[in-house]
Amino acid sequence: MNLTSPKVIKEICAQFGFGFSKGLGQNFLLDANVLEQIAEAAGDVDAVIEIGPGFGVLTRELAKAYETVLSIEIDQRLYPILDYTLSDCPNVEIIPGDVMKLDISELISKKLDKKRISVAANLPYYITTPILTMLIESRLPFENIVVMIQKEVAQRICAKPGSKDYGAISVLCQYYTNPELLCVVPAGSFLPPPKVDSAVLRMQVLPEPKVHTENEALFFRVVKAAFSQRRKTLLNCLSNNFPLDKNTLTDCLEGIGIQPTIRGEKLGLEEFASITKALQSIL
Ligand code: SAM
Repeated sequence: MNLTSPKVIKEICAQFGFGFSKGLGQNFLLDANVLEQIAEAAGDVDAVIEIGPGFGVLTRELAKAYETVLSIEIDQRLYPILDYTLSDCPNVEIIPGDVMKLDISELISKKLDKKRISVAANLPYYITTPILTMLIESRLPFENIVVMIQKEVAQRICAKPGSKDYGAISVLCQYYTNPELLCVVPAGSFLPPPKVDSAVLRMQVLPEPKVHTENEALFFRVVKAAFSQRRKTLLNCLSNNFPLDKNTLTDCLEGIGIQPTIRGEKLGLEEFASITKALQSIL
């Protein structure tokens, strides 16, 4: 069954009376090379958790390459279609539900115990950042998280300190993973085409975060504060977000060799970790 053919997709739509839901981000991928690339990027694992199978085009590719595929889908109208399109893929199980509400940790312990697991998905755009944040912060034992997302979001995630795209999402993703933009995918490669171009991003999950901090909650409070007002200095951002006066903060930053007048977007992970350590001792 060739689910990359617009003709086949339209026939299935007609057969099942299915119409695409814009609200659920239903833009189906048509490029066979990109599908292969996503499946390959999931790496040397036994199982893949897919988010949002749609008609199952990526699911079929994953089923060819991996022992087990669990595919989480929210839209009930797709279940009979997936029964049909995946009828020859016995290693795929559709998990009904909203990925943001499912207990993925329980799913893994019930169905994928002791397996090496990656996540692969052509994500629905309306909820990309919450899904990525949830997956990364869950600290579940994924090897790779491979996702098709809006190109600009992928660029922000991979951005380095000092570039205009660098922000809190870059720090979060680079703290827990090695992110890499694998390819750009034009809007015309989807049915229906979205308004923006997309990119495939692979995040190789690190066994330990890239920098050491004793207080992760404070580390991310510092990051959030540093990026809270992009045109303000680090000193102003911190003083607006922590109950400390500017003199104390200036001494604290200068004590660790960081200019209070620097902008947050110039700071790397190591610097955020040393600010966290210094603040922890005076808060
Ligand atoms: N995998 C297919 C492909 O590559 O063509 C479809 C991808 S489409 C961009 C996104 C899919 O995610 C749709 O099937 C949509 O119904 C599903 N979806 C949207 N929100 C979801 C959620 N909260 N939980 C699980 N699936 C969701």
